[in-house]
Amino acid sequence: MRYSEMFLPTGREVPSDAEVISHQLMIRAGMIRKLTSGIYSYLPLGYRVIRKVEQIVREEMNKASAQEVFLPMVQPAELWQESGRWEYYGKELLRFQDRHERKYCLGPTHEEVITDLVRNDIKTYRQLPRNLYQIQTKFRDEVRPRFGVMRCREFGMKDAYSFDADEASAEVSYGKMFAAYNNIFRRCGLRFRPVEADSGSIGGKYSHEFMVMAESGEDAMVVCDKCSYAANLEKAETARPEQVKIAENEWLLQESVHTPEVRTIEEVCDFLQVTPRDIVKTLIFNADGKSCAILIRGDQEVNEIKVKNYLGANELELADDEMILKATGAPRGFAGAVNIKTRIFADYSVMNMVNFVTGANKENYHLKNVNIGRDFTVEAFADLRVVEKNDKCPRCGGDIHFVRGIEVGHVFKLGTKYSKSLQASYLDKDGQEKLMIMGCYGIGIGRTVAACIEQNNDANGIVWPMPLAPYHVIITPVNVNEGNVFQAAEKIYSELLAAGIEVVFDDRDERAGVKFKDADLIGIPLRVIIGQKNLVSGNVELKIRKSGETKIYPLQKIVSAIQISITEGLELEAAAPSSG
Ligand code: ATP
Ligand code: MG
Repeated sequence: MRYSEMFLPTGREVPSDAEVISHQLMIRAGMIRKLTSGIYSYLPLGYRVIRKVEQIVREEMNKASAQEVFLPMVQPAELWQESGRWEYYGKELLRFQDRHERKYCLGPTHEEVITDLVRNDIKTYRQLPRNLYQIQTKFRDEVRPRFGVMRCREFGMKDAYSFDADEASAEVSYGKMFAAYNNIFRRCGLRFRPVEADSGSIGGKYSHEFMVMAESGEDAMVVCDKCSYAANLEKAETARPEQVKIAENEWLLQESVHTPEVRTIEEVCDFLQVTPRDIVKTLIFNADGKSCAILIRGDQEVNEIKVKNYLGANELELADDEMILKATGAPRGFAGAVNIKTRIFADYSVMNMVNFVTGANKENYHLKNVNIGRDFTVEAFADLRVVEKNDKCPRCGGDIHFVRGIEVGHVFKLGTKYSKSLQASYLDKDGQEKLMIMGCYGIGIGRTVAACIEQNNDANGIVWPMPLAPYHVIITPVNVNEGNVFQAAEKIYSELLAAGIEVVFDDRDERAGVKFKDADLIGIPLRVIIGQKNLVSGNVELKIRKSGETKIYPLQKIVSAIQISITEGLELEAAAPSSG
């Protein structure tokens, strides 16, 4: 492509809402433009990169025997009512009506549509397993769209859905997608790692997020320094401590203390001259309309997702004042486990505590020297808290550390959640009707591009890894009006085109500085610089964007040198170790 003919509006201006570098660079490099909040147009350069990601995704999905379909974006309310999500999905689901006042939504995801398709056409075990995928636009009315195409409202996603006859086969399908995702992100040239993620009621092994390592990432994860354990912060487990045998003679006499206007942990510590580690916090939750108390040591945080999963609740929130009053007999701020009128569960952090402080279930009172076993009993101890720095790896006991990342993909075992509500069944070998076991697998295409830029940029702009580069080479004649420079550039351009190489020819009559700046900004991996001085001795210069390294080549060798560099670049990225 000739630069002079391209729609490539580069610039120095960055909109004030562009907080992260990828968003800034995508605007400055003329890849995207905002139409309205969370809704972007891809310009030619940006769209080429999108197509590169899609191509890699397609190849790997096809290799894993998934088949491509294309499902509608506009979906009827009836299907969502059948699955129960019309009510549940919340405000991210954009609902609207047609001229006949029939209700619809814009697909934020496609479980309903795909399950409907499959239930009508798959009847027996002989037609299973199947895996269907699409690359399509999703709409989610995100509360706070931000970071450009990283968290927007209209975005391209690859979503795949697997249907299996039994658990064993569903595990194989999951494993194939897990492997395909590793291939995809490795081939994109990204530093990433799969981490365990929350899988609701399904259980541990069946949800992984693929995280691109980036400081600017919205997600926190926990990584073990010793073994391969890595988990999303929401999901990261804490190990069950050894139970310490407590002698009853250690128990001190329980005391009720008048603590006027003392509610928070800090206030209790100040007032009673104790540390947060001496306090048991009692949180009252509303789980599907019923109250329950969760106990946790004063210096720890409850992880609501763990609580929700542990209780098997559909909905979990902190109880309102009315529910607190009913359960504790006191206003908010004085809850404690002694004589409480609700079920009690405790985090492991409470298991070995003795003579601790809690609320007294009485306004302006706390209890000192409370002990489990004597003063109250706990229904169960469980892992209900957020992991912290000092925790050890739940698998090997090694040290852990926190890192940040961008979730670019998610593989998830759905089980029979949708096949049950939407009645997707098949007849097994014995003619018995059974529910299909499903999995779903998403990749954010635009988010992957943005994540790639987060990892690959410098002060001058984007530094594309070869596999996602919109073009592999840019030809930059230093001065198009000097000597044979322009003719030589034309010749190399046509040779590269003939060799099937993706090349931009910067044929603009601009100062060299302007052209170099643009080439750096848009991040093309290889640059052929054609200047009169080298040309008189039959040479041109090849500059590598990433390393800044330059090398002189005779004219007749430049095309093959470029070919070698491109092949190397593609192979290197594909072979590079993934995590880091
Ligand atoms: P997040 O927690 O970031 O909102 P999610 O869990 O809602 O993501 P999924 O429903 O698993 O995401 O969607 C699959 C993939 O789609 C994600 O891994 C991500 O790459 C992409 N994605 C999700 N929401 C957005 C968005 N608002 N903008 C761009 N890409 C998105
Ligand atoms: Mg989301």
